[in-house]
Amino acid sequence: MDLYEYQGKELFRRVGIPVSDGRLAETPEEARAAAEELGGPVVVKAQVLVGGRGKAGGVKLADDPADAEAKARDILGLDIRGHVVQKVWIETASDIAKEYYLSVTFDRGAKQPLFMFTTQGGVEIEQVAEESPEALVRLHIDPLEGFQPWVARRLVYGAGVEDPSEQKQIAAIIGQLYEAFVRFDAMLCEINPLIVTPDGEVKALDSKFTVDDSALFRHGDVAGWRDTSAADPIEAFAREKGVTYVKLDGEVGICGNGAGLSMSTVDVVAHVGGRPANFCDLGGGGSAEGVVDALEVITRDPQVKTIFFNIFGGITRCDEVARGILEALDRLDMSRYPIVVRLDGTNAEEGRAILAGAGKPNIHPEATMLDGAQRAVELAKESA
Ligand code: GDP
Ligand code: MN
Repeated sequence: MDLYEYQGKELFRRVGIPVSDGRLAETPEEARAAAEELGGPVVVKAQVLVGGRGKAGGVKLADDPADAEAKARDILGLDIRGHVVQKVWIETASDIAKEYYLSVTFDRGAKQPLFMFTTQGGVEIEQVAEESPEALVRLHIDPLEGFQPWVARRLVYGAGVEDPSEQKQIAAIIGQLYEAFVRFDAMLCEINPLIVTPDGEVKALDSKFTVDDSALFRHGDVAGWRDTSAADPIEAFAREKGVTYVKLDGEVGICGNGAGLSMSTVDVVAHVGGRPANFCDLGGGGSAEGVVDALEVITRDPQVKTIFFNIFGGITRCDEVARGILEALDRLDMSRYPIVVRLDGTNAEEGRAILAGAGKPNIHPEATMLDGAQRAVELAKESA
């Protein structure tokens, strides 16, 4: 789960990383009130889950409350690479002397958390990595040893920070960032820019924070921050039902068992000239319960014309899936959808016999993935 800047900063605050005081606003009037409360110049920042807001006109300084209201009016509703701004974060403006970069993430190759630090912050880190890789200090953390103070010192000295007060403040922030990374089960914590003010104060001016979805049960408050209004309503419904589902833009509803097979099914449907309506992974099961949930999600999409079940039996037995599908059809009215079912693998023959024996006119069994995809696409075109 990706957090908005203001949410990431809240977690930074909890571990003691210095951030500016701020308020969230959803209207220009609220932005004005926020600026009044904060007093003095503020910065108005689009809250969207995409980087490069500054360049896109989503970050603006405002001298006073009236200006904050005007800037918020400019930014609210702005489309930043497909993300429409619905909230702005108003925070006390900072004077900037230097912009650094600090992050901790997982290095999956090394199976260890990886710190990256450079004094060339403010710009995209990929650019620094490409143009001046020597300026980017990288350091792994041995998770068994845990965080050690020398790690922070090595990063700070390695990047060439010379001011003793800066060194001390940044070293502390590095430790705090690691604490946030571990405590909130993060997959990424990034501060870009980490600034030094003209008075020599170091603080986090931006935040990029990703929490591991699988650990959200341990962080009730963070889980509750999920912005369901930003998500697709069908995807939100799928999440409620525990169905693995991604909405796409076509007419052929897709249901496979296993992520790889489901993904391939999306490809094959596209390959034979159809347009997949979704990605949906039934997982290892194939129980009626799972099938009902998946069908309920898939058919919420009004664009869906046909449904293609692509099942490869392994541990999952095709006869079980066939029974699951029939039971699901008893519980849901699916009569207006042609349903193509391809069963292969363990007990495929039994499964097909069960489907054939049920005498449902809208079920179309097919033996291969390609035949199934072709059939589903033809049927979608016929019903269009
Ligand atoms: P991003 O473009 O999405 O990464 O958004 P940032 O939060 O990093 O802001 C982009 C840029 O706006 C920063 O690199 C700063 O140069 C500038 N900026 C943000 N907040 C302030 C502020 O309080 N004062 C000043 N002077 N500039 C700021
Ligand atoms: Mn940034």
